[in-house]
Amino acid sequence: MQILYKSTRGAGEPIPASLAILKGLSEDGGLFVPTSIPPLDIPLEKLAQMNYQETAYEVMRRFLTDFTEEELKNCIRSAYDSKFDTECIAPLHEAGGAYFLELYHGATIAFKDMALSILPHLMTTAAKKNNVKNEIVILTATSGDTGKAALAGFADVPGTRIVVFYPKHGVSPIQEKQMVTQKGANTFVVGITGNFDDAQTAVKKMFNDRAMARELDEAGFQFSSANSINIGRLVPQIVYYVYAYTRLLGQGRIQAGDLINVTVPTGNFGNILAAYYAKEMGLPIGKLLCASNENKVLYDFFSTGTYDRKREFILTSSPSMDILISSNLERLIYRLTGEKADQCADLMRALSTGGEYTITGEMKAQLGDFYGNFCSEGETREAISATWYGSRYVIDPHTAVAAGVYQKYVRDTKDTTPTVIASTASPYKFTRSVMNAISDQYQGLDDFALADALEKLSGVPVPAAVNEIRTAPVLHDTVVDAENMPNAVRKFLGIL
Ligand SMILES: *Cc1c(COP(=O)(O)O)cnc(C)c1O
Repeated sequence: MQILYKSTRGAGEPIPASLAILKGLSEDGGLFVPTSIPPLDIPLEKLAQMNYQETAYEVMRRFLTDFTEEELKNCIRSAYDSKFDTECIAPLHEAGGAYFLELYHGATIAFKDMALSILPHLMTTAAKKNNVKNEIVILTATSGDTGKAALAGFADVPGTRIVVFYPKHGVSPIQEKQMVTQKGANTFVVGITGNFDDAQTAVKKMFNDRAMARELDEAGFQFSSANSINIGRLVPQIVYYVYAYTRLLGQGRIQAGDLINVTVPTGNFGNILAAYYAKEMGLPIGKLLCASNENKVLYDFFSTGTYDRKREFILTSSPSMDILISSNLERLIYRLTGEKADQCADLMRALSTGGEYTITGEMKAQLGDFYGNFCSEGETREAISATWYGSRYVIDPHTAVAAGVYQKYVRDTKDTTPTVIASTASPYKFTRSVMNAISDQYQGLDDFALADALEKLSGVPVPAAVNEIRTAPVLHDTVVDAENMPNAVRKFLGIL
Protein backbone atom coordinates (compact mmCIF):
# COMPACT_ATOMS: atom_id res chain seq x y z
CA MET A 1 0.00 0.00 0.00
CA GLN A 2 1.42 3.38 -1.08
CA ILE A 3 1.21 6.01 1.66
CA LEU A 4 1.35 9.66 0.61
CA TYR A 5 1.52 12.78 2.74
CA LYS A 6 -0.73 15.80 2.64
CA SER A 7 -0.98 19.05 4.56
CA THR A 8 -3.28 19.38 7.58
CA ARG A 9 -4.31 22.72 6.05
CA GLY A 10 -5.17 21.34 2.68
CA ALA A 11 -2.89 23.01 0.14
CA GLY A 12 -1.04 21.03 -2.52
CA GLU A 13 -1.22 17.50 -3.87
CA PRO A 14 -0.27 14.55 -1.68
CA ILE A 15 3.49 13.85 -1.91
CA PRO A 16 5.66 10.82 -1.16
CA ALA A 17 7.31 10.39 2.23
CA SER A 18 10.78 11.36 1.01
CA LEU A 19 9.53 14.75 -0.20
CA ALA A 20 7.57 15.35 3.00
CA ILE A 21 10.75 14.64 4.98
CA LEU A 22 12.74 17.09 2.85
CA LYS A 23 10.14 19.84 3.13
CA GLY A 24 9.51 19.41 6.85
CA LEU A 25 6.53 21.74 6.86
CA SER A 26 3.94 22.26 4.13
CA GLU A 27 3.97 25.58 2.27
CA ASP A 28 0.61 26.55 3.76
CA GLY A 29 2.04 26.23 7.27
CA GLY A 30 0.32 22.89 7.80
CA LEU A 31 1.94 19.65 8.92
CA PHE A 32 2.29 16.62 6.69
CA VAL A 33 0.08 13.71 7.64
CA PRO A 34 -0.22 10.28 6.04
CA THR A 35 -3.21 9.88 3.73
CA SER A 36 -4.06 6.80 5.77
CA ILE A 37 -2.56 4.99 8.74
CA PRO A 38 -1.18 1.65 7.55
CA PRO A 39 -2.27 -1.39 9.57
CA LEU A 40 0.32 -3.29 11.59
CA ASP A 41 -0.51 -6.41 9.62
CA ILE A 42 2.13 -8.68 11.09
CA PRO A 43 1.52 -10.95 14.08
CA LEU A 44 2.58 -9.45 17.42
CA GLU A 45 4.18 -12.79 18.33
CA LYS A 46 6.40 -12.46 15.29
CA LEU A 47 7.38 -8.92 16.21
CA ALA A 48 8.21 -10.17 19.71
CA GLN A 49 11.00 -12.26 18.13
CA MET A 50 12.56 -9.24 16.45
CA ASN A 51 15.22 -6.90 17.77
CA TYR A 52 14.88 -3.12 17.74
CA GLN A 53 16.28 -2.66 14.24
CA GLU A 54 14.05 -5.33 12.74
CA THR A 55 11.01 -3.88 14.50
CA ALA A 56 11.96 -0.44 13.20
CA TYR A 57 12.04 -1.76 9.67
CA GLU A 58 8.62 -3.40 9.95
CA VAL A 59 7.02 -0.24 11.33
CA MET A 60 8.78 2.34 9.19
CA ARG A 61 8.43 0.56 5.87
CA ARG A 62 4.67 0.78 6.26
CA PHE A 63 4.85 4.59 6.42
CA LEU A 64 7.86 5.44 4.24
CA THR A 65 6.66 3.52 1.24
CA ASP A 66 8.84 5.25 -1.36
CA PHE A 67 12.07 4.15 0.35
CA THR A 68 13.50 0.89 -0.93
CA GLU A 69 14.19 -1.94 1.48
CA GLU A 70 17.92 -1.36 1.10
CA GLU A 71 17.64 2.40 1.67
CA LEU A 72 15.54 2.01 4.78
CA LYS A 73 17.64 -0.77 6.25
CA ASN A 74 20.78 1.30 5.67
CA CYS A 75 19.22 4.24 7.50
CA ILE A 76 18.21 2.01 10.40
CA ARG A 77 21.61 0.36 10.59
CA SER A 78 23.41 3.73 10.63
CA ALA A 79 21.11 5.11 13.32
CA TYR A 80 20.63 2.39 15.91
CA ASP A 81 24.20 1.26 16.43
CA SER A 82 26.87 1.65 19.10
CA LYS A 83 25.88 5.29 19.60
CA PHE A 84 23.40 3.66 21.96
CA ASP A 85 24.90 2.31 25.16
CA THR A 86 22.65 -0.75 25.20
CA GLU A 87 22.09 -3.32 22.49
CA CYS A 88 18.36 -3.43 23.08
CA ILE A 89 18.25 0.35 22.34
CA ALA A 90 15.17 0.99 24.50
CA PRO A 91 15.05 -1.14 27.67
CA LEU A 92 12.01 -1.48 29.91
CA HIS A 93 12.45 -1.11 33.66
CA GLU A 94 9.69 -2.11 36.05
CA ALA A 95 9.20 0.22 39.00
CA GLY A 96 6.31 1.56 41.04
CA GLY A 97 3.77 -0.67 39.31
CA ALA A 98 4.61 0.53 35.79
CA TYR A 99 7.12 -0.16 33.04
CA PHE A 100 9.51 2.67 32.32
CA LEU A 101 10.54 2.61 28.67
CA GLU A 102 14.02 4.14 28.78
CA LEU A 103 14.32 6.18 25.61
CA TYR A 104 17.53 7.88 26.69
CA HIS A 105 20.31 5.50 25.81
CA GLY A 106 21.45 7.39 22.71
CA ALA A 107 24.23 9.93 22.14
CA THR A 108 22.64 12.84 24.03
CA ILE A 109 20.83 10.86 26.74
CA ALA A 110 17.33 12.06 25.88
CA PHE A 111 14.52 10.51 23.87
CA LYS A 112 15.05 12.88 20.95
CA ASP A 113 17.95 10.62 19.95
CA MET A 114 15.45 7.91 19.04
CA ALA A 115 14.34 9.92 16.03
CA LEU A 116 17.23 12.30 15.46
CA SER A 117 19.79 9.57 15.07
CA ILE A 118 17.90 8.36 12.00
CA LEU A 119 16.51 11.61 10.56
CA PRO A 120 19.80 12.77 8.95
CA HIS A 121 20.02 9.43 7.13
CA LEU A 122 16.40 9.59 6.02
CA MET A 123 16.96 13.13 4.85
CA THR A 124 20.15 12.59 2.88
CA THR A 125 18.59 9.48 1.33
CA ALA A 126 15.50 11.53 0.47
CA ALA A 127 17.68 14.25 -1.09
CA LYS A 128 19.44 11.69 -3.29
CA LYS A 129 16.13 10.11 -4.33
CA ASN A 130 14.76 13.50 -5.36
CA ASN A 131 17.91 14.77 -7.10
CA VAL A 132 18.27 17.67 -4.73
CA LYS A 133 21.47 19.56 -5.45
CA ASN A 134 21.09 22.26 -2.80
CA GLU A 135 22.71 21.89 0.57
CA ILE A 136 20.04 21.11 3.18
CA VAL A 137 19.95 23.65 6.01
CA ILE A 138 18.29 22.26 9.10
CA LEU A 139 16.63 24.99 11.17
CA THR A 140 15.67 23.94 14.66
CA ALA A 141 14.12 25.60 17.66
CA THR A 142 14.77 23.68 20.84
CA SER A 143 13.52 23.72 24.38
CA GLY A 144 16.68 21.87 25.30
CA ASP A 145 16.93 18.31 24.13
CA THR A 146 16.08 18.49 20.43
CA GLY A 147 18.94 20.88 19.82
CA LYS A 148 21.74 18.68 21.02
CA ALA A 149 20.21 15.53 19.56
CA ALA A 150 19.83 17.24 16.16
CA LEU A 151 23.37 18.61 16.33
CA ALA A 152 24.75 15.18 17.20
CA GLY A 153 22.75 13.63 14.37
CA PHE A 154 23.67 16.14 11.65
CA ALA A 155 27.23 17.15 12.65
CA ASP A 156 29.54 16.60 9.67
CA VAL A 157 26.84 14.86 7.61
CA PRO A 158 27.84 15.83 4.03
CA GLY A 159 25.32 17.98 2.17
CA THR A 160 23.76 19.35 5.36
CA ARG A 161 24.15 22.29 7.72
CA ILE A 162 22.35 22.74 10.98
CA VAL A 163 21.32 25.85 12.90
CA VAL A 164 19.90 25.45 16.41
CA PHE A 165 18.12 28.21 18.34
CA TYR A 166 17.57 27.79 22.06
CA PRO A 167 16.16 30.07 24.77
CA LYS A 168 19.29 31.45 26.42
CA HIS A 169 17.71 31.38 29.89
CA GLY A 170 15.35 28.44 29.43
CA VAL A 171 17.49 25.30 29.34
CA SER A 172 19.46 23.43 32.00
CA PRO A 173 23.20 24.16 32.39
CA ILE A 174 24.05 20.67 31.14
CA GLN A 175 21.74 21.08 28.16
CA GLU A 176 23.36 24.40 27.28
CA LYS A 177 26.89 23.09 27.75
CA GLN A 178 26.07 20.12 25.54
CA MET A 179 24.99 22.42 22.73
CA VAL A 180 27.59 25.18 22.87
CA THR A 181 30.44 22.64 22.85
CA GLN A 182 29.14 21.00 19.66
CA LYS A 183 31.85 20.24 17.11
CA GLY A 184 31.35 20.08 13.35
CA ALA A 185 32.00 22.80 10.76
CA ASN A 186 28.39 22.57 9.56
CA THR A 187 26.90 23.37 13.00
CA PHE A 188 25.74 26.73 14.39
CA VAL A 189 24.21 27.19 17.84
CA VAL A 190 22.45 30.43 18.75
CA GLY A 191 20.95 31.51 22.07
CA ILE A 192 17.91 33.77 21.84
CA THR A 193 16.73 36.25 24.44
CA GLY A 194 13.10 35.01 24.32
CA ASN A 195 11.51 31.69 25.28
CA PHE A 196 11.03 28.48 23.30
CA ASP A 197 7.75 29.59 21.73
CA ASP A 198 9.44 32.76 20.45
CA ALA A 199 12.16 30.63 18.89
CA GLN A 200 9.70 28.17 17.38
CA THR A 201 7.44 30.91 16.01
CA ALA A 202 10.41 32.66 14.36
CA VAL A 203 11.64 29.38 12.87
CA LYS A 204 8.19 28.64 11.44
CA LYS A 205 8.14 32.15 9.96
CA MET A 206 11.46 31.54 8.21
CA PHE A 207 10.12 28.30 6.77
CA ASN A 208 7.12 30.15 5.35
CA ASP A 209 9.15 33.07 4.01
CA ARG A 210 9.08 32.57 0.22
CA ALA A 211 11.47 35.46 -0.44
CA MET A 212 14.02 33.97 1.91
CA ALA A 213 13.56 30.56 0.27
CA ARG A 214 14.36 32.08 -3.14
CA GLU A 215 17.36 33.91 -1.71
CA LEU A 216 18.66 30.63 -0.28
CA ASP A 217 17.96 28.68 -3.43
CA GLU A 218 20.05 31.13 -5.46
CA ALA A 219 22.90 30.56 -3.03
CA GLY A 220 22.52 26.77 -3.26
CA PHE A 221 20.68 26.12 0.02
CA GLN A 222 17.24 25.00 1.11
CA PHE A 223 15.66 24.77 4.54
CA SER A 224 14.40 21.68 6.20
CA SER A 225 13.26 20.94 9.70
CA ALA A 226 14.43 18.55 12.36
CA ASN A 227 11.67 19.61 14.74
CA SER A 228 9.08 17.08 15.70
CA ILE A 229 6.78 18.53 13.06
CA ASN A 230 8.87 16.61 10.50
CA ILE A 231 7.21 13.34 9.61
CA GLY A 232 10.72 11.84 9.57
CA ARG A 233 10.82 12.45 13.32
CA LEU A 234 7.38 11.12 14.02
CA VAL A 235 7.56 7.78 12.22
CA PRO A 236 10.68 6.49 14.04
CA GLN A 237 8.92 7.29 17.32
CA ILE A 238 6.08 4.88 16.56
CA VAL A 239 8.62 2.07 16.60
CA TYR A 240 9.35 2.02 20.31
CA TYR A 241 5.71 1.69 21.31
CA VAL A 242 5.47 -1.42 19.17
CA TYR A 243 8.79 -2.57 20.62
CA ALA A 244 7.66 -1.96 24.22
CA TYR A 245 4.46 -3.90 23.66
CA THR A 246 6.22 -6.82 22.04
CA ARG A 247 8.88 -6.94 24.81
CA LEU A 248 6.11 -7.26 27.41
CA LEU A 249 4.59 -9.95 25.24
CA GLY A 250 7.91 -11.74 24.83
CA GLN A 251 8.46 -11.66 28.61
CA GLY A 252 5.04 -13.20 29.16
CA ARG A 253 3.79 -10.17 31.09
CA ILE A 254 0.89 -9.75 28.68
CA GLN A 255 -0.85 -11.96 26.11
CA ALA A 256 -1.10 -10.95 22.45
CA GLY A 257 -4.08 -8.64 22.13
CA ASP A 258 -4.12 -7.50 25.78
CA LEU A 259 -4.36 -3.76 26.13
CA ILE A 260 -1.61 -1.64 27.59
CA ASN A 261 -1.84 2.02 28.57
CA VAL A 262 0.85 4.50 27.70
CA THR A 263 1.84 7.58 29.70
CA VAL A 264 3.84 10.26 27.92
CA PRO A 265 5.42 13.41 29.35
CA THR A 266 4.30 15.87 26.75
CA GLY A 267 5.47 19.16 25.29
CA ASN A 268 5.13 19.53 21.55
CA PHE A 269 2.77 16.52 21.40
CA GLY A 270 5.08 14.54 19.10
CA ASN A 271 5.86 11.58 21.32
CA ILE A 272 2.28 10.95 22.37
CA LEU A 273 1.07 11.42 18.80
CA ALA A 274 3.42 8.61 17.81
CA ALA A 275 1.73 6.43 20.45
CA TYR A 276 -1.65 7.43 19.00
CA TYR A 277 -0.48 6.46 15.51
CA ALA A 278 0.74 3.13 16.91
CA LYS A 279 -2.73 2.58 18.33
CA GLU A 280 -4.32 3.55 15.02
CA MET A 281 -2.08 0.98 13.31
CA GLY A 282 -3.70 -1.62 15.50
CA LEU A 283 -1.26 -1.94 18.41
CA PRO A 284 -3.45 -2.84 21.42
CA ILE A 285 -3.16 0.41 23.36
CA GLY A 286 -6.00 1.42 25.66
CA LYS A 287 -5.55 4.85 27.14
CA LEU A 288 -3.05 7.50 26.15
CA LEU A 289 -2.16 9.47 29.26
CA CYS A 290 -0.95 12.94 28.34
CA ALA A 291 1.19 14.31 31.17
CA SER A 292 1.93 18.03 31.40
CA ASN A 293 3.94 20.13 33.80
CA GLU A 294 2.65 23.47 35.14
CA ASN A 295 2.36 24.70 31.53
CA LYS A 296 -0.83 22.65 31.47
CA VAL A 297 -2.33 23.93 28.26
CA LEU A 298 -3.00 20.35 27.08
CA TYR A 299 -4.64 19.29 30.34
CA ASP A 300 -6.99 22.26 30.01
CA PHE A 301 -7.61 21.37 26.38
CA PHE A 302 -8.56 17.77 27.19
CA SER A 303 -10.84 18.89 30.01
CA THR A 304 -12.59 21.80 28.27
CA GLY A 305 -12.12 21.43 24.51
CA THR A 306 -10.55 24.89 24.42
CA TYR A 307 -6.90 25.31 23.55
CA ASP A 308 -5.78 28.58 25.07
CA ARG A 309 -2.16 29.66 24.87
CA LYS A 310 -2.84 33.08 26.40
CA ARG A 311 -1.25 32.45 29.76
CA GLU A 312 1.97 32.94 31.64
CA PHE A 313 4.88 30.84 30.38
CA ILE A 314 6.25 29.02 33.41
CA LEU A 315 9.87 27.88 33.67
CA THR A 316 9.85 24.46 35.34
CA SER A 317 12.30 21.71 36.21
CA SER A 318 11.13 19.87 33.07
CA PRO A 319 12.17 22.52 30.51
CA SER A 320 11.65 20.31 27.45
CA MET A 321 7.95 20.44 28.27
CA ASP A 322 7.80 24.20 28.83
CA ILE A 323 5.69 24.78 25.76
CA LEU A 324 2.44 26.64 25.22
CA ILE A 325 1.99 25.85 21.53
CA SER A 326 2.07 22.09 21.05
CA SER A 327 2.64 22.00 17.30
CA ASN A 328 1.91 18.33 16.75
CA LEU A 329 -1.54 18.63 18.28
CA GLU A 330 -2.52 19.98 14.86
CA ARG A 331 -2.20 16.48 13.48
CA LEU A 332 -4.67 15.16 16.05
CA ILE A 333 -7.03 18.09 15.46
CA TYR A 334 -6.94 17.26 11.77
CA ARG A 335 -8.06 13.71 12.53
CA LEU A 336 -10.78 14.95 14.86
CA THR A 337 -12.24 17.15 12.10
CA GLY A 338 -12.63 14.00 10.00
CA GLU A 339 -9.64 15.16 7.94
CA LYS A 340 -11.33 18.40 6.94
CA ALA A 341 -8.33 20.57 6.21
CA ASP A 342 -10.36 23.81 5.97
CA GLN A 343 -11.74 23.33 9.44
CA CYS A 344 -8.29 22.50 10.77
CA ALA A 345 -6.80 25.57 9.06
CA ASP A 346 -9.52 27.79 10.60
CA LEU A 347 -8.74 26.53 14.09
CA MET A 348 -5.01 27.07 13.61
CA ARG A 349 -5.64 30.57 12.27
CA ALA A 350 -7.72 31.30 15.38
CA LEU A 351 -4.81 30.11 17.51
CA SER A 352 -2.26 32.32 15.82
CA THR A 353 -4.45 35.42 15.66
CA GLY A 354 -6.57 35.19 18.82
CA GLY A 355 -4.45 32.83 20.88
CA GLU A 356 -7.14 30.18 21.29
CA TYR A 357 -9.62 27.88 19.63
CA THR A 358 -12.44 25.60 20.75
CA ILE A 359 -13.22 22.27 19.11
CA THR A 360 -16.80 21.14 18.49
CA GLY A 361 -18.62 18.74 20.80
CA GLU A 362 -18.43 16.14 18.08
CA MET A 363 -14.65 16.46 17.93
CA LYS A 364 -14.31 16.39 21.70
CA ALA A 365 -16.36 13.19 21.83
CA GLN A 366 -13.56 11.45 19.94
CA LEU A 367 -10.99 12.21 22.62
CA GLY A 368 -12.08 9.30 24.82
CA ASP A 369 -8.77 7.48 24.41
CA PHE A 370 -6.89 10.40 25.92
CA TYR A 371 -6.56 11.25 29.58
CA GLY A 372 -4.90 14.55 30.43
CA ASN A 373 -3.44 15.60 33.74
CA PHE A 374 -0.48 17.54 35.07
CA CYS A 375 2.02 17.72 37.91
CA SER A 376 2.99 20.81 39.84
CA GLU A 377 6.67 21.32 40.62
CA GLY A 378 6.10 19.91 44.10
CA GLU A 379 4.36 16.83 42.72
CA THR A 380 7.20 16.32 40.26
CA ARG A 381 9.74 16.36 43.10
CA GLU A 382 7.56 13.97 45.05
CA ALA A 383 7.40 11.56 42.12
CA ILE A 384 11.20 11.53 41.87
CA SER A 385 11.60 10.89 45.56
CA ALA A 386 8.76 8.33 45.76
CA THR A 387 10.27 6.37 42.85
CA TRP A 388 13.71 6.44 44.44
CA TYR A 389 12.64 5.55 47.98
CA GLY A 390 9.97 3.11 46.80
CA SER A 391 11.85 1.31 44.01
CA ARG A 392 15.50 2.49 44.16
CA TYR A 393 15.08 3.79 40.63
CA VAL A 394 16.12 7.32 39.67
CA ILE A 395 14.01 9.20 37.13
CA ASP A 396 14.45 12.63 35.61
CA PRO A 397 11.89 15.45 36.11
CA HIS A 398 10.18 14.91 32.73
CA THR A 399 9.67 11.24 33.41
CA ALA A 400 8.60 12.17 36.94
CA VAL A 401 5.79 14.34 35.55
CA ALA A 402 4.54 11.24 33.73
CA ALA A 403 4.97 9.02 36.78
CA GLY A 404 3.03 11.51 38.90
CA VAL A 405 0.23 11.73 36.35
CA TYR A 406 0.10 7.95 36.11
CA GLN A 407 -0.39 7.75 39.89
CA LYS A 408 -3.18 10.33 39.67
CA TYR A 409 -4.81 8.32 36.89
CA VAL A 410 -4.75 5.11 38.90
CA ARG A 411 -6.17 6.96 41.89
CA ASP A 412 -8.95 8.51 39.74
CA THR A 413 -9.92 5.43 37.75
CA LYS A 414 -8.67 2.32 39.57
CA ASP A 415 -7.59 1.13 36.10
CA THR A 416 -4.87 -1.48 36.54
CA THR A 417 -4.03 -2.06 32.86
CA PRO A 418 -0.27 -2.64 32.46
CA THR A 419 1.22 0.75 31.73
CA VAL A 420 4.30 1.88 29.85
CA ILE A 421 5.72 5.23 30.92
CA ALA A 422 7.85 6.94 28.30
CA SER A 423 11.05 7.76 30.15
CA THR A 424 12.32 10.65 28.11
CA ALA A 425 15.58 11.77 29.67
CA SER A 426 18.39 10.35 31.71
CA PRO A 427 18.45 11.68 35.28
CA TYR A 428 22.05 12.65 34.47
CA LYS A 429 20.73 15.41 32.27
CA PHE A 430 18.91 17.08 35.16
CA THR A 431 21.05 16.13 38.13
CA ARG A 432 20.33 19.21 40.23
CA SER A 433 16.55 18.82 40.25
CA VAL A 434 16.86 15.07 40.68
CA MET A 435 19.33 15.10 43.58
CA ASN A 436 17.56 17.93 45.39
CA ALA A 437 14.30 15.98 45.13
CA ILE A 438 15.94 12.96 46.71
CA SER A 439 17.73 14.75 49.56
CA ASP A 440 18.71 18.25 50.62
CA GLN A 441 22.27 17.15 51.33
CA TYR A 442 23.40 17.86 47.75
CA GLN A 443 22.88 21.61 47.71
CA GLY A 444 25.96 23.58 46.81
CA LEU A 445 27.52 20.91 44.59
CA ASP A 446 28.34 21.87 41.01
CA ASP A 447 26.80 19.97 38.09
CA PHE A 448 29.62 17.50 37.69
CA ALA A 449 29.93 16.82 41.41
CA LEU A 450 26.20 16.15 41.34
CA ALA A 451 26.69 13.65 38.53
CA ASP A 452 29.33 11.88 40.59
CA ALA A 453 26.99 11.85 43.58
CA LEU A 454 24.22 10.38 41.46
CA GLU A 455 26.53 7.63 40.27
CA LYS A 456 27.42 6.80 43.85
CA LEU A 457 23.79 6.79 44.89
CA SER A 458 22.27 4.82 42.01
CA GLY A 459 25.15 2.65 40.86
CA VAL A 460 24.38 3.68 37.27
CA PRO A 461 27.65 4.92 35.70
CA VAL A 462 27.90 8.54 34.55
CA PRO A 463 27.12 8.41 30.81
CA ALA A 464 29.72 9.36 28.22
CA ALA A 465 27.56 12.32 27.13
CA VAL A 466 28.15 13.96 30.53
CA ASN A 467 31.79 13.02 30.88
CA GLU A 468 32.59 14.47 27.45
CA ILE A 469 31.46 17.97 28.35
CA ARG A 470 33.38 18.20 31.61
CA THR A 471 36.31 19.76 29.80
CA ALA A 472 35.00 20.52 26.31
CA PRO A 473 35.62 24.11 25.11
CA VAL A 474 32.70 26.43 24.27
CA LEU A 475 32.56 26.76 20.48
CA HIS A 476 29.31 28.74 20.09
CA ASP A 477 28.53 32.01 21.88
CA THR A 478 26.13 33.88 19.59
CA VAL A 479 23.04 35.39 21.27
CA VAL A 480 20.36 37.29 19.32
CA ASP A 481 16.76 38.58 19.65
CA ALA A 482 14.05 36.57 17.93
CA GLU A 483 13.75 39.27 15.23
CA ASN A 484 17.38 38.84 14.32
CA MET A 485 17.24 35.10 13.79
CA PRO A 486 16.95 35.31 9.95
CA ASN A 487 20.06 37.46 9.74
CA ALA A 488 21.97 35.13 12.03
CA VAL A 489 21.12 32.34 9.57
CA ARG A 490 22.22 34.44 6.57
CA LYS A 491 25.51 35.25 8.26
CA PHE A 492 26.22 31.59 9.01
CA LEU A 493 25.51 30.69 5.38
CA GLY A 494 27.73 33.52 4.16
CA ILE A 495 24.97 35.30 2.28
CA LEU A 496 24.85 38.53 4.28
C1 LIG B 1 11.08 16.75 23.95
C2 LIG B 1 10.91 16.17 25.28
C3 LIG B 1 9.64 15.91 25.81
C4 LIG B 1 8.38 16.28 25.09
O1 LIG B 1 8.16 15.51 23.95
P1 LIG B 1 7.16 16.03 22.83
O2 LIG B 1 7.29 15.06 21.74
O3 LIG B 1 7.61 17.40 22.45
O4 LIG B 1 5.80 16.06 23.45
C5 LIG B 1 9.57 15.30 27.05
N1 LIG B 1 10.68 15.00 27.75
C6 LIG B 1 11.91 15.24 27.26
C7 LIG B 1 13.08 14.90 28.09
C8 LIG B 1 12.07 15.82 26.02
O5 LIG B 1 13.30 16.05 25.55
